[in-house]
Amino acid sequence: MNLTDELNSNARLDFDDALRLYEMDLFELGFYADKIRQERFGKEAYFNVNRHINPTNICADICKFCAFSANRKNPNPYTLTHEQILQSVKKSYQNGAKEIHIVSAHNPHTGFEWYLEIFRKIKTAYPDLHVKALTAAEIDFLSRKYGFSYEEVIEKMVEYGVDSMPGGGAEIFDEKVRDYVCKGKVSSSDWLKIHSLWHKKGKMSNATMLFGHIEEKAHRIDHMLRLRTLQDKTGGFNAFIPLVYQRFNNFLKVKKFLGSEEILKTYAISRLVLDNIPHIKAYWATSTINLALIAQEFGADDLDGTIEQESIQSAAGAKSANGMGLKDFLDLIKTSNFIPVQRDSLYNKIKIYT
Ligand code: SF4
Repeated sequence: MNLTDELNSNARLDFDDALRLYEMDLFELGFYADKIRQERFGKEAYFNVNRHINPTNICADICKFCAFSANRKNPNPYTLTHEQILQSVKKSYQNGAKEIHIVSAHNPHTGFEWYLEIFRKIKTAYPDLHVKALTAAEIDFLSRKYGFSYEEVIEKMVEYGVDSMPGGGAEIFDEKVRDYVCKGKVSSSDWLKIHSLWHKKGKMSNATMLFGHIEEKAHRIDHMLRLRTLQDKTGGFNAFIPLVYQRFNNFLKVKKFLGSEEILKTYAISRLVLDNIPHIKAYWATSTINLALIAQEFGADDLDGTIEQESIQSAAGAKSANGMGLKDFLDLIKTSNFIPVQRDSLYNKIKIYT
């Protein structure tokens, strides 16, 4: 079968076929990705009213692509108090947030309890808020730092009120590239193992991929296929989120940046390769809102959310520091000819904005 026959018959794509998708014309590729997107979701575009909180930027690790952690390029270390975090949560809750998304650097000074108490305090004050917290990289760090097994860290997360796991820390799974861009961070196999353990608890998570730095197209396909293999076993991934590498304030000396064509192709290929992960998210904080809106025509069905405040991508040059107002967000989705659907963290529909 040639590639278009395989796409027309919705056959599962192997590594070679998936890689060849990059050679296709952008609009032909987009046609096939959009076909699947429309079969599943029509013109609905999901979003979440959420708040990102990054409690500390002090980090024991030294990922070369990172502009968020306190280092000599960003010498502003901070650690929020629990009271500061709760104040932010209160404000966001009053503004209608349904999810608090908590991701930190790997601070070696706070203690494990400091993290757990954040979750407990939020859940005690706002039991109906969904707490999405601790990437697999953070779980790996906490496990190594405080001598707990992954299972024990996960047990505590559930006990203290974490509802789902974000997809961060996956970066790129290829071991050689990973060793160069984030040596010392959770290994690829352990990242997958931690998500698998989380899924075994009956919990859901997301998966990311950082692309557009030194990796090659083949590494992206390899990354997607490793996720697809795990998803076949657990079914625990809600969404795949390709994160576009941000170029400023970091130590990765990337000279050539991706153009929008390759970014859109990567969204489309994600949709076609990851036949078992329901949602493809164009996280506008990394792609820009304009490209995220276009990505809706290339397989993406989710634009993340209003975010409110964001420190990780904006430190590296993204225009996401203050999130986006709900009205603006809705208007943008509508004028791009899609129907905004507010969802909860598990993709139950809350409101359809026709
Ligand atoms: S990406 Fe995360 S783990 Fe790596 S240096 Fe930045 S904050 Fe630390």
